Amino acid sequence: MGKIVLNQVTKSFGDTQVIPPLDLTIEDGEFTVFVGPSGCGKSTLLRLIAGLEDVSSGSIEIAGREATELKPAQRELAMVFQSYALYPHMSVRKNIAFPLKMAKMDKAEIDRRVESAADILNLTDYLDRRPGQLSGGQRQRVAIGRAIVREPSAFLFDEPLSNLDAALRVGMRLEISELHKRLSTTMIYVTHDQVEAMTMATKIVVLRAGVIEQVGSPLELYNTPRNRFVAGFIGSPKMNFIEGALAAEHDAHCIGIRPEHIDVSATEGSIQGTINVSEHLGSDTFFHVNCEALNTTLTVRVDGEVGFNRGDTVFLTPKSDLIHRFDEQGLRL
Ligand code: ADP
Ligand code: MG
Repeated sequence: MGKIVLNQVTKSFGDTQVIPPLDLTIEDGEFTVFVGPSGCGKSTLLRLIAGLEDVSSGSIEIAGREATELKPAQRELAMVFQSYALYPHMSVRKNIAFPLKMAKMDKAEIDRRVESAADILNLTDYLDRRPGQLSGGQRQRVAIGRAIVREPSAFLFDEPLSNLDAALRVGMRLEISELHKRLSTTMIYVTHDQVEAMTMATKIVVLRAGVIEQVGSPLELYNTPRNRFVAGFIGSPKMNFIEGALAAEHDAHCIGIRPEHIDVSATEGSIQGTINVSEHLGSDTFFHVNCEALNTTLTVRVDGEVGFNRGDTVFLTPKSDLIHRFDEQGLRL
């Protein structure tokens, strides 16, 4: 049903090519996340799929149909934005029903769809309220409800949670993941936040300057990043990169070690260092360790509370089977 295929799609604004030729297949029912730094072309790519921008060349297929020339309304997709733009003078019920009313759908069918969407989104008790009487999370759910009632072949989300505070974001992340499980509809979700990507996606597409750097499941990207860019982008805190003699010992131009893959000890280990900064979160502890011999600072993450502090001398030992190796071009060896 909701399979989406991009063939050699490009997009230029004036003389500036924002998307060089790009191929991508999104299978029916997948939860695909486009992730990458600000300005890398995520929104542009989503808007090309939605039909809100015209491709400069190439073609787009949606649900088995050639869709490159179709108007947004003909593509049977539903888009949810960061700013949810609800009508303040209308009830939740009317806001959700709005696209169906515009499509002149039969009243009984509108009621059925609105009530079903409200049930899925836990909005049943709020149908008669106005947006101003709702929390930020509830308003975002109303915006999603307005998309659900259209029964689209795919949902497109552009950073829908960026305006919400941290706690609410975590809650909504779960809700959207559950919504995907219930509806099994194709979803494409754009974010610059790799944690959102890792927690929600069945498939992550990492973009840099309009180019796909890697496509894979969250754990594929975490375990086997194709290059230094993906290695540094996926995972928090960021992977440590070391060049020079230590990398040469591993027959690489550069080696990458994730902070959670380094053991720390007061007495023994392969790399000596001094703690610059220690961050004690209770659940885990982060150390930023100045390693003079390597001429770099390494970040280390340890489970639970570990009682080293600034100024302490420590010894670090990377888990040797979890070291990533890269060549001069930054490609994985
Ligand atoms: P992202 O969503 O990843 O932050 P965008 O897709 O919004 O990135 O933008 C990608 C690039 O395209 C940016 O350099 C941006 O300035 C440029 N761009 C986006 N829309 C337009 C436009 N309408 N006209 C000119 N340049 C644009
Ligand atoms: Mg954007």
